[in-house]
Amino acid sequence: MINDDIPAPAPAPARTYTLIGPDGRPYTSTTPGTLGGYRRDRLYGRLDCPSALRFIAAGGYVSNRVFFPDEATAIAAGYRPCAKCLPEKYRQWKTRGTPES
Ligand SMILES: [Zn+2]
Repeated sequence: MINDDIPAPAPAPARTYTLIGPDGRPYTSTTPGTLGGYRRDRLYGRLDCPSALRFIAAGGYVSNRVFFPDEATAIAAGYRPCAKCLPEKYRQWKTRGTPES
């Protein structure tokens, strides 16, 4: 008996993205994140944040670069808004954040 089964073609690998979930742990997503973040300082901001892009250009940032699907997830993961590209959010965060010392 001849086995003439044709192997199913391998599906084209879907582009995946590593995003940070609300528990602060990375997971694989099939959709890109909408916000970028800096793991070491637990900051999140716009993908085109000028200060993030400057760090990336300098080469010292990429290994700490993370991405979030949305803002609620970034906050849940314990990140705070970037003062540079999200000044409004940053002010709100400061207001409801740690008490003045
Ligand atoms: Zn920023």
